[in-house]
Amino acid sequence: MTNLLEIEKLHTGYDGVAVVRDLDLTVNAGEVVALLGPNGAGKTTTLTTISGMGDIISGSVTIMGRPVPRLRHAHRVARWGVTHVPENRGILFQLTVRENLEMAKTKGKVDIDRAVEYFPALGSLMHRRGGLLSGGEQQMLALGRAIVAEPKLLMVDEMSLGLAPVIYEELMPVVRRIADETNAGVLLVEQHVDLALEVADRGYVLSHGDLAMHGTASELLADRHLLDASYLGVESLDD
Ligand code: ATP
Repeated sequence: MTNLLEIEKLHTGYDGVAVVRDLDLTVNAGEVVALLGPNGAGKTTTLTTISGMGDIISGSVTIMGRPVPRLRHAHRVARWGVTHVPENRGILFQLTVRENLEMAKTKGKVDIDRAVEYFPALGSLMHRRGGLLSGGEQQMLALGRAIVAEPKLLMVDEMSLGLAPVIYEELMPVVRRIADETNAGVLLVEQHVDLALEVADRGYVLSHGDLAMHGTASELLADRHLLDASYLGVESLDD
C-alpha cells in the first residue's frame, strides 16, 4: 500500500495556539479513514491544515512524500491531487450544476459523465443553479465535483450536516466506492460515528485536540465504552 498522507507529531491551530496536539495519522491509497470526535475536537482544523490552509506550529504533514508548507499554500497542495469538500460544501450558488462541475478541475478536461455515473440525479439538474438545489442535491454536487477532480487524496468534512438520515445514509457509501474504484485515499470527518465506521477501514478519535483512540473500524466499534467516553471527554474510563 502506498502511504499517501503521513502526519507526525502535528501541533496546529490559530495564532500560534495549538487546538490539535501531537497528532500522528496516516491515510493510504484506496483506504477510507474516519476522523471522529465531538464538536470543537479539532477535526476541521486538521483537514484545513492538510489542505495547506492552516498554520502548522510543529510536526509535519507529508502528502505523497511532499511536505505541506507551514503557512497557507492551499493552491500548491491542491495541485498535488488533494481535494477538500468543506463543511459548507464549497459549491458556487450562482453557477449551474454543469458550470460547478466544469470548474472542479484546475487543468485538463472534466469528465462530467463520471459525476452522473455516481449520482444519476445530477443528470437532469445540469442547468439548475447551485443555489436552487436541495441540501442533498448540493451535497451530491459537492461530491460530484470531487469525483471529476480525480483526487489522490479526498477529504470530506461533515457530509451529513443538515441532511435527513435517508439522504446521508445513501451518500456515505459513495466515499467507499470512490476509494475502491479510483484508489484514492479518503479522510472522512463525520459526526455519525456508526455510519462512518461502516464505510471506513480505520478511524481516529480526537477529543479536545488530543488523539483519544485509533484503530481499525471494527476495533473502534467493538470498544464502545471507550468510544463513547472519548465523545463525552471523560477523563477516567473506569467511570
Ligand atoms: P465541529 O464539528 O464543531 O466543526 P471540529 O472538531 O471540527 O468541530 P474545529 O472546528 O477544528 O473542531 O475547532 C477546534 C477548536 O479550534 C475549537 O475550540 C474552535 O473554537 C477553534 N477554532 C476553530 N476555528 C478557529 C479560528 N478560525 N480561530 C480561532 N479558533 C478557532
